[in-house]
Amino acid sequence: MDENQSIMEALMPVLETNVGAAPSIFNLWFGELKLSSISDTEAVFIAPTALKKKILITKYISQINKTIEEVLGFAVDVKIFTQDELDAPPPEEDDDDDDELPIPVPKGEDDGKEEIISEFISGTSDKASIVDNYTFENFVVGSSNTFAKAACMAVAKDPTVYNPLFIYGNSGLGKTHLLYAIINYMKHNHPDLKIVYKKCETFLAELIEALQSGVVAPFKEKYRKCDVLLIDDIQFLAGKEMTQEEFFHTFSSLYESEKQIILTSDRPPKDIKPLSDRLKTRFEGGLLADVQPPNFELRIAIIRKKADDIGLTISNEMVEYMAERLQNNIRQIEGALKRLYALCSFTSSEVTKERVDEVISIIDPGNIPTDAMIEKILNAVSKHYGIDVESLKSKQKTDSIAKARHVAIYLLRTMTSLTLKEIGGIFDRNHSTVKSSIDYVDLNIKTVNGYEREIKQLKKQIKS
Ligand code: ADP
Ligand code: MG
Repeated sequence: MDENQSIMEALMPVLETNVGAAPSIFNLWFGELKLSSISDTEAVFIAPTALKKKILITKYISQINKTIEEVLGFAVDVKIFTQDELDAPPPEEDDDDDDELPIPVPKGEDDGKEEIISEFISGTSDKASIVDNYTFENFVVGSSNTFAKAACMAVAKDPTVYNPLFIYGNSGLGKTHLLYAIINYMKHNHPDLKIVYKKCETFLAELIEALQSGVVAPFKEKYRKCDVLLIDDIQFLAGKEMTQEEFFHTFSSLYESEKQIILTSDRPPKDIKPLSDRLKTRFEGGLLADVQPPNFELRIAIIRKKADDIGLTISNEMVEYMAERLQNNIRQIEGALKRLYALCSFTSSEVTKERVDEVISIIDPGNIPTDAMIEKILNAVSKHYGIDVESLKSKQKTDSIAKARHVAIYLLRTMTSLTLKEIGGIFDRNHSTVKSSIDYVDLNIKTVNGYEREIKQLKKQIKS
């Protein structure tokens, strides 16, 4: 991936948050925006049309400025042109013009790639450049996702072995990646298959549009004539009765003619509510495969691979540190690496713990480094019970001190990823003592009136 593209990828998610518009609106104006060049003083973007350029400049320039400063750590002058403007020869007589148009970046091989994947795969925001990388080869496996990957490969090789295939798991764990891996595999190995990929939201929007315009037949036909239908994030059907109805018919018609259906969701069918019983039964009638959060080893492997892919040099120690801190979401890991790359390549500096902390505090503000968290917890407990931190850590067995210590231990266990042994280390006690403190608090939560509320309040205070 070229540097501008990876900077763009670092910018986009933050830009989306800063703009705060619905995804479809955001994609409308920002979907095809490209970074043409960037220096320490100036960023030049290319908008696909004059209208989009105008809207970006008049409506969104402050969010663009803000995002660049947040992601790169410094402000630049933002310029937006259309490709035509960039291609135009510089005005002739204009000798001393400071505002000269920047020299256009030569068109690379990538040009023209930003089109719809194939005529059967629509959804203008699903761009080839990104999804080309979503392959089985690029999907790193560990115990949390081996089964899902194997199921997807089986279906890609031999559509309809499992029908439907239903992949579920939390956000950022690779479901969309797997869907595209299937598509990419099929494009090479079964080029004659008609494949339709849709985000569920797009499916909904299209259906509504068809219904509003009164022309539903082409919509139905498009979905019913494909060989493979992939719908991403099907949980969005929840509560939408009419769409469920239409989807049921599409589903049944494809299923009966032995066409492959692949669905993803952030939860299993039984937890999509409300969902009609007949759809639930259909979803559960094929193969269910889940993706779980990656364990430490898989996180390490993913960080190494992704850092390698974008050309980021990072020490083993920092790889482990990141794996320790970013536990639940692979998208977040990727976002952090891209930001690190943007930050470090601009300042020609190394990836240090401070840099990692800085980046994580932006992408995941609630994620506090363990050291800082330990301190926060001890201080909060100390203040709440009026017992100083030294006494909490001491061997003193006074009733009030012991009780506060139990709470501190409990909070350390539930609010950090520290092991019993590590917590024992803080209090110079063995792990079974730590365990009994936790049991003590658990028991009190269940049996003592108001105790749970007190613990919750402490937690809230620590998080704030
Ligand atoms: P989901 O659809 O489950 O929310 P995505 O498929 O969008 O998640 O994954 C988020 C990002 O993490 C993507 O860029 C994807 O390539 C990456 N990713 C997820 N799982 C893996 C994996 N096992 N190996 C490599 N990259 C992964
Ligand atoms: Mg997804």
